Amino acid sequence: MRPDKDFDVIIIGAGPAGSACAYTLAKQGKDVMLIERGDFPGSKNMTGGRIYSYALEQLEPGLTASTDLERCVVHEQVMVMAGGRSIMLDYHDPLFNPENGVPQSYTVLRSKFDRWLANKAESAGVNIVCGIRVDDVIKENGDIIGVIAGDDKMICDLVIAADGVNSLMAQKAGLIGDIRAGSMGLGIKETIELPSEIINQRFNLKENEGTARMILGCTDGIRGGAFLYTNNDSISLGAVYSPEDIQKCGKPAHRLFQELKMHPAIYPLITDGRTVEYAAHLVGEGGYKARIAKPYQNGLLVIGDAAGFVMNMGYTVRGLDLAILSGIAAADAYLSEQDSRKTGPVYVSELEKALLPAMRAVEKYHQVMQNSSLYTEYPQMAVSLMTGIYTVDAPGTASLKTLTKQTLKANHFSWRKAAKAIWTVVKSS
Ligand SMILES: Cc1cc2nc3c(=O)[nH]c(=O)nc-3n(C[C@H](O)[C@H](O)[C@H](O)COP(=O)(O)OP(=O)(O)OC[C@H]3O[C@@H](n4cnc5c(N)ncnc54)[C@H](O)[C@@H]3O)c2cc1C
Repeated sequence: MRPDKDFDVIIIGAGPAGSACAYTLAKQGKDVMLIERGDFPGSKNMTGGRIYSYALEQLEPGLTASTDLERCVVHEQVMVMAGGRSIMLDYHDPLFNPENGVPQSYTVLRSKFDRWLANKAESAGVNIVCGIRVDDVIKENGDIIGVIAGDDKMICDLVIAADGVNSLMAQKAGLIGDIRAGSMGLGIKETIELPSEIINQRFNLKENEGTARMILGCTDGIRGGAFLYTNNDSISLGAVYSPEDIQKCGKPAHRLFQELKMHPAIYPLITDGRTVEYAAHLVGEGGYKARIAKPYQNGLLVIGDAAGFVMNMGYTVRGLDLAILSGIAAADAYLSEQDSRKTGPVYVSELEKALLPAMRAVEKYHQVMQNSSLYTEYPQMAVSLMTGIYTVDAPGTASLKTLTKQTLKANHFSWRKAAKAIWTVVKSS
């Protein structure tokens, strides 16, 4: 503990990781400063659109019910597109919205949610300043003892970097080098306002119930995919593209995204809507292997996206819950060990309890999703097979076996390649 300190803990970034950490510490009487570069928490933030409530419940039991969230997700959908055609799998589970209990997940808008969580932290005693960018950390004999923001220098026991993907603080602390395009996706998202009754009709939804849809085959062969979430009075439509592939293909991401919006399976859902937000943001795609293996230094812990705690499993993306869990883990580490040289290892053991096993369990998904056939041949084959099955233009009908053979042949399907892909999936599950 430093006698000359201004605060016990300084947290950089009021996203879900930073605010969850600040809230946990303040409730235990710690003097916390939370610094956010945006005009207000959430003003610079972007997500696809769904948060799993178990993390909020871990932050504080009963918290989900008081949060400013959108619709609870009861429809989990996967859509496959090829050309103008599409196939959709809709898993409807009413129990995801139980009568007595906490719904499993909600759609979420960051400008509302981040603000709400930061306000919660502030009412627990956290000092929050917005519109200030932290520029650097202060080091003394190799240990981190504070931060520099403009002309201000602030000293503390512990600095927590919650500054999101491509963390400047983790770079300044020497924990990561330059950003690697291979482990990042470029996300683009539009929030499209529509009356809630129209959303209910278009998505066949009951009041307050929502849809989470992941879309494959809509990226012109580029590794990536799209997502769609229904909010109370808006739709979040977005896509994530491999920056490396975008560069090679030469088509700008905004044009690809525009094509998605015009797709016959998407346009009717958003038509007559008003765009109220358009944003782009990087998203960590590398999973467990791309995280910062040692997310600490003496006097500094790294949490949330800044540490690479995000999982893209293809059918769902999880970063918000991991951000909250890592924020709690960092707070718990400081509460139990305040010697700045020992807090880091305690933090890692808290992470091991909280989230690392879940990340390890799906660590090879990233490898599976590198298979370019997933974005080209496979969607094409699936859609061609459907065309064959549902096209009746003569009295005779080919059997399913014949249609499958024809489809595979027409798409130059190779059993060897497929066996290799299946083996990768089996190994990674
Ligand atoms: C396109 C896309 C779709 C996604 N979909 C989902 C989804 O559906 N579900 C899900 O769970 N996750 C999703 N994610 C991931 C999720 O958004 C992140 O994992 C989550 O936001 C991480 O929270 P965080 O608090 O660590 O970082 P962030 O939310 O990025 O917050 C970091 C904060 O730090 C501030 N900051 C940065 N630098 C400084 C500085 N120098 N000084 C002061 N403040 C600073 C920023 O302004 C920001 O407020 C998605 C991400 C993207 C990009």
